[in-house]
Amino acid sequence: MTHKLVILGSGPAGLTAALYAARADLAPVVISGMMAGGQLTRTSEVENFPGFPDGILGGELMEKFRAQAARFGAVFIDGKDVTSVDVRARPFAVVLDDERIEAGALIIATGASPRMLGLPNEERLFARGVSTCATCDGAFFRGKNLVVVGGGDSAAEDAVFLTRFATAVTLVHRRGELRASKIMQHKVLSHPKITVQWHTVIADILGADAGRVTGVRMKDVRTNREWDAPCDGVFVAVGHTPNTALFEGRLELDQGGYIVTRGGTATSVEGVFACGDVQDHVYRQAVTAAGSGCMAAIDASRYIEQHE
Ligand code: NDP
Repeated sequence: MTHKLVILGSGPAGLTAALYAARADLAPVVISGMMAGGQLTRTSEVENFPGFPDGILGGELMEKFRAQAARFGAVFIDGKDVTSVDVRARPFAVVLDDERIEAGALIIATGASPRMLGLPNEERLFARGVSTCATCDGAFFRGKNLVVVGGGDSAAEDAVFLTRFATAVTLVHRRGELRASKIMQHKVLSHPKITVQWHTVIADILGADAGRVTGVRMKDVRTNREWDAPCDGVFVAVGHTPNTALFEGRLELDQGGYIVTRGGTATSVEGVFACGDVQDHVYRQAVTAAGSGCMAAIDASRYIEQHE
């Protein structure tokens, strides 16, 4: 059976596309992906999504998105990942672990994934003190001493969030100024539990023998001086990589690997649309992702109408 529209991804972009497509009678099939709900499910309080003056938990917000799309008939395939996508001819083919589905049109909303530092011990000690998700793992570090790596909004938010549990948080940043928004910079720099270690990178994560993080080797990038600092956890918050491996050589990608869209959400293949963080490395907000999801559904709907 060929579905009119298949949507890959279930963050704000994918679920908004699903809502609009369902209301346009396209009976969209949403492949939730292995991180259903997307990155917002890994954050705590979302205070900048319009309509929630008191804030809302990221996971709760995504549940509401999903319920709203489901109410109008969006169908979800959960717990399976897409292993390949063939967009060379219509209908497009989407292969899941053990299933192949066909689609007259495709919306890609696969988002972006957290970047890592690339240290061998980071991998070895992942989930043994190394984490990319402060909101998921922060509560395990009550009364502990933590390191957060990065200088953007994610690192700043993580550092502030982790002070709920940790005794002390050191924000390690490779430059002398934060990239984070002014309001987050202020929160970090004025927080009594947070110290910023400027011009510094993590040269190694210590504790491989103990089987848990016991410290980090810091390195001042100006002098190359290295020293060890004890800590119990390392939260890596150094940005994201777009989830576009499936589309390499099939869709036009930019230098950073993001899907190139033109004139709204159209990709280089007619009938394939992209929305959210997978095609946006500038705004990357839940509300902009949701907005582009709406655009993708409208673009796909027009395309389907023309080709039916
Ligand atoms: P960013 O790309 O903004 O920041 C990444 C940070 O990590 C930078 O400070 C960068 O350093 C540093 N970095 C990158 N690679 C390395 C490395 N290998 N070693 C050490 N440091 C490294 O990513 P974010 O995830 O913070 O934010 C992404 C987007 O999402 C932004 O637009 C942000 O505003 C937005 N966002 C908004 C939030 C909100 O509004 N509530 C919350 C979280 C994110 P350098 O500065 O030197 O490049």
